[in-house]
Amino acid sequence: MYLVFLGAPGAGKGTQAVAVSKQLGLTHLASGDLFRQAQTRGDELGRQVKSYIEKGLLVPDEITIKMIQEHLERFNPEQSFILDGFPRTLEQARALDKMLSQRQKAIDRAVYIEVSPDELTTRLTGRLTCRRCQAPYHRVNSPPRVQGRCDKCGGELYTRPDDAAETIKKRIEVYLEQTAPLMDYYRKAGKLLSVNGSQDIEKVTGDIVAALAVSPGRPRPTQPTEARVKSR
Ligand code: ADP
Ligand code: AMP
Repeated sequence: MYLVFLGAPGAGKGTQAVAVSKQLGLTHLASGDLFRQAQTRGDELGRQVKSYIEKGLLVPDEITIKMIQEHLERFNPEQSFILDGFPRTLEQARALDKMLSQRQKAIDRAVYIEVSPDELTTRLTGRLTCRRCQAPYHRVNSPPRVQGRCDKCGGELYTRPDDAAETIKKRIEVYLEQTAPLMDYYRKAGKLLSVNGSQDIEKVTGDIVAALAVSPGRPRPTQPTEARVKSR
């Protein structure tokens, strides 16, 4: 199963991609995590992307597509994955389709996590991120067990510089302008699943897993689900 997770910054793509990949045994690949790791290493890619990320802008397609392509080429074609944060432009979506079609593969589902704009800001200003494994937490909604430390790897938690109020505003604008059109792209392809992301983290995960289970070609769940999930 090849999935992409769509949604505004702060919608919960990373949180859900970690949970769903664990439940379904998928590999989770997040473009934002890859860029931050490159910045931590201080390599050429990290230097190239720094100024875009700081300003809340998208990294140019050419750089982003090349990075994802290099990662996907290392995957076994039978390996199922979730792409989180990629694609973010139509050009990236088309490039992804092309990369996969060369392997006689295609994206199965695009999962859109829908959250109101007001809630996005609250989530992003309270977000804490693990410097080592990039796991997301929230000061109030999803705090770590030990203050300042990642539950998963013990890494230091920090506030991403691009989670500052002004940059959040820019990132949401960029999302509406450049990424929101992807919803239509995947809707027209009959691949869009829309999930209410303004619920408890566990409920959103349950809804996504249930929605994927009733997707064409997937086994139906044994229990009926109350999930407010619709295929747009
Ligand atoms: P994205 O990857 O879409 O930018 P994240 O998964 O990093 O979003 O989530 C953004 C912030 O919101 C994090 O602090 C996370 O802990 C919190 N969060 C994620 N999902 C929920 C939810 N369903 N309810 C409340 N807070 C959430
Ligand atoms: P994220 O961790 O998904 O919030 O991404 C953090 C930042 O990395 C974004 O604000 C962009 O600057 C950059 N980025 C991540 N993914 C992409 C992408 N697919 N295309 C362009 N820029 C990206």
